[in-house]
Amino acid sequence: VDPADRSRGKTGLNAFLHVAEEEALATARGVDASRAAGDELHPLAGVPIAVKDNIVTRGMPTTAASRMLEGWLSPYDATVIAKVREARMPILGKTNLDEFAMGSSTEHSAFGVSRNPWDLDRIPGGSGGGSAAAVAAFQAPLALGSDTGGSIRQPASVTGSVGVHPTYGSVSRYGAIAMASSLDQIGPHARTVRDAALLHEVLGGHDPRDATSLKDPVGPYAAEAAAGAAEGGLRGLRVGVVQELLHAEGLQDGVSQRFRESLEALRAAGAEIVEVSLPHLKYSLGAYYLIMSSEVSSNLAKYDGVRFGARTLPEDGPVTIERVMAATRAAGFNPEAKRRIILGTYALSAGYYDQYYGAAQKVRTLVMRDFEQAFGQVDVLVSPTSPTTAFRAGEKVDDPLAMYLNDIATIPINLAGVPAISVPGGLAPENGLPVGIQFVAPVREDARLYRAAAGLE
Ligand code: GLN
Repeated sequence: VDPADRSRGKTGLNAFLHVAEEEALATARGVDASRAAGDELHPLAGVPIAVKDNIVTRGMPTTAASRMLEGWLSPYDATVIAKVREARMPILGKTNLDEFAMGSSTEHSAFGVSRNPWDLDRIPGGSGGGSAAAVAAFQAPLALGSDTGGSIRQPASVTGSVGVHPTYGSVSRYGAIAMASSLDQIGPHARTVRDAALLHEVLGGHDPRDATSLKDPVGPYAAEAAAGAAEGGLRGLRVGVVQELLHAEGLQDGVSQRFRESLEALRAAGAEIVEVSLPHLKYSLGAYYLIMSSEVSSNLAKYDGVRFGARTLPEDGPVTIERVMAATRAAGFNPEAKRRIILGTYALSAGYYDQYYGAAQKVRTLVMRDFEQAFGQVDVLVSPTSPTTAFRAGEKVDDPLAMYLNDIATIPINLAGVPAISVPGGLAPENGLPVGIQFVAPVREDARLYRAAAGLE
C-alpha cells in the first residue's frame, strides 16, 4: 500500500474528493431552525448524503475523478441533487470513483484509490467505491451513485452495504456525467434496505429534461420494505435462483456458502425457491463491453480541450486545433478511458457497425428476453452480486479481463434495464469479508425488490 494515499483524510479511506463542510452545516442548521419553529419537514430532512463525483453540483467541484475536469465547476445541479436539496438533506461532499465511472475498484481514479473500511489493503469496489466506503465506514448514512455496469451494486456487495440499480429511466439522469447513455442509471447507496427505499422515493419521478425518463409513479418502496421485513413477509413470493450464476467462473467458496444460507433464510421467511435459467447470460459481458465502449467513445468525444475539458497545449511545435485536441486527450484521460475510447471508436467505424455494435444489440435483446421469460415463472431472481469478496488493491489492475469478469452478475441487469438491489449476506468464512446478495425484479417493479430484500435483511 502506498502510504501516500493512506494519509489522505483522517481515516485513510480516501472516500471523498471534496468535503463540503460549511454548506452541509448550514443546511443542517437551517433544518434545526425549521424544526424548532414547528415547520413540516421531509422525513429525510437533516439526514446527510454523499454524492458520487460524476453527478454535477452547483457550488462544489465535479471531476468524475479525471484530470480532464479538474477545476471545473458546474453551473447547474443534476435533477437528483435538486431533489436532495428540496428534501433539505445536507450534502457532505463528492466521493471518489474510477475515472468517468469506468472500473470495478476505484484504482482508475486520477486522485488515488479508495480503501475498503473492512481491510484497508483492499478495494471498496467500483466505480462507486467512494460512496460505498463512506456509507460502510459510517462517514455518511446515505450516498448517491451511478450504475452503468454494476457500479452501485458491486461496491455495496464488497463493503457490506446496500446498493440499488433502479429501473432504467425511473430516476433522472439529467446532470449525471454520461458514460454509456443506454446503460447509465443513478441510484441509492445505504446501510439498510429501508434507508435505500426512503432515498429512492426522494430520487424517483419523471423529468422532462431526461429524454428516457419514465412517467411512472414513485414507490411505495419504504412501505414494501417494511412489509417484507415483517414476520412471514415473503409468504407466496417465488424466488428464482439463476443457475448460470451458481456455477459462475471464479465463484469463491465463502460467497457460494453464504448464498446458499441466504436461500434458506428466504425459505424460512416464506419464499418459494425455484431454479431458473438465463441461457444467454454468458454473452452479456461481451455485448456490454462493445455497447458500453461504443457509447463511451461517443460521449467522451466532447472532452477535447476546445469544446470541453481542461485544455493542454502541445509541448512544442505548432498550436493547431488538432494538436491541442491530441495533447488534451493524451494528458486528460487515463489508460483505461483511452482503451475504451479506442475500442468503441473501432467498433463504430464504417463497415464494422453491424459486425460489432449491431451484433451486440441483438445479444442484448436476447438477454432481455431471457429475463422476461424468467419473470414468467418467478417474482424475483436472486444470485450472488459479485463472484468474490473485495480483492486486494493492485491484484487485478494490470489484468483488465480479470477485472471485467468480476462483473458477471451485475452487468446483465444494465443490459436489460431491470431493477436490482445488493444486500449484505454475511461474511465469507475464509477471510471475514462481506458477501453481497443480489435481487432482480421485472422492469418497473422496483417496489418488489424492497420487499424481497428486506425479507432477507
Ligand atoms: N465495472 C463496470 C465497468 O468498468 C462499471 C461501470 C459502471 O457501472 N459505471 O464498466
